[in-house]
Amino acid sequence: MKERPVLGIVVPCYNEEAVLGETIAQLDAVLSALIAEELISGRSFMLFVDDGSKDRTWELIAEHRAFHPHVAGLKLAGNVGHQSALLAGLMEARVLADCVISIDADLQDDVRVIRDFVLKYIEGFEIVYGVRRSRDTDTWFKRTTALGFYRFMDRMGVKVVNNHADYRLMSRRALDELERFKEVNLFLRGLVPMIGFRSTSVYYDRLERFAGESKYPLRRMIAFALEGITSLSIRPIRLVTAAGFIMFGVSLLAALYAIIAKLTGEAVSGWTSLIVSIWFIGGVQLVSLGLIGEYVGKIYREVKRRPLYTVETELLPESLQHSRVA
Ligand code: UDP
Ligand code: MG
Repeated sequence: MKERPVLGIVVPCYNEEAVLGETIAQLDAVLSALIAEELISGRSFMLFVDDGSKDRTWELIAEHRAFHPHVAGLKLAGNVGHQSALLAGLMEARVLADCVISIDADLQDDVRVIRDFVLKYIEGFEIVYGVRRSRDTDTWFKRTTALGFYRFMDRMGVKVVNNHADYRLMSRRALDELERFKEVNLFLRGLVPMIGFRSTSVYYDRLERFAGESKYPLRRMIAFALEGITSLSIRPIRLVTAAGFIMFGVSLLAALYAIIAKLTGEAVSGWTSLIVSIWFIGGVQLVSLGLIGEYVGKIYREVKRRPLYTVETELLPESLQHSRVA
């Protein structure tokens, strides 16, 4: 019989002292049940990544690690954001586990699905997406903007799994591939489908945040959506080029009209149209420049190859101290 897989659960945490105790308890219960069921190895663990929290998040992680055999902690030196913190955790867990599940700290993603993830993995899938069945718990606003976002991503040619956030399982092989992407502009849910291994989805209902508040206000949501589009698609820049050509065609027609009007003596003082077109073209140019700037900025960050995060401290469970593979 094949040896039971070691499961790692990676949880990025930023100022989550209000929920962390409950999260650890619930994940621990799930993990223990799976171990008891002999689906996963007893060396399975949960890795809490403290993304530079300003509250007692790290102290809580360290305290729990002292008496929960499956709790591990990774403390980042500063706040690097959800995606980079998650990557830090995934890359750390990759060398300790056979498969890794990522989940938010706020218990919005139903932990009971973890068992389904594991079953799919055992069945042979390398990537399993957690997909939300309904968005009833979201506000009308969040639902509408999310729907618009997925549609827009699709139009822009970015492949994403609809209604899937970062609740997913990846095999070590898939994580090794992800590691090779070396992206600085991180939008994990756009990158993972590019890996292309055998994948499937499991469905769940997203719950309300257990406690604490969302770290993603509208401003960060918009920034995140822009990041996703501009780091994975060059279609916006092509649209600008296309618009530029159309503008050019229109201005040729306008010029033709002006010349004919002049020749037939019907020319009027074209001040209005002149001013309007100056503004219009000025606007188009600014938009284009802005977009180009966005891409140039990304190239700039990409070529600098700055590290995405810095690990300050690492706390592993006893059983894992010597099991690093790579
Ligand atoms: N998070 C993080 N770093 C940040 C912001 C958030 O690690 O700078 C974590 C946060 O602790 C949570 C997850 O990312 O576990 C998702 O954040 P949140 O629940 O606030 O986002 P929402 O579900 O509202 O989109
Ligand atoms: Mg949340």
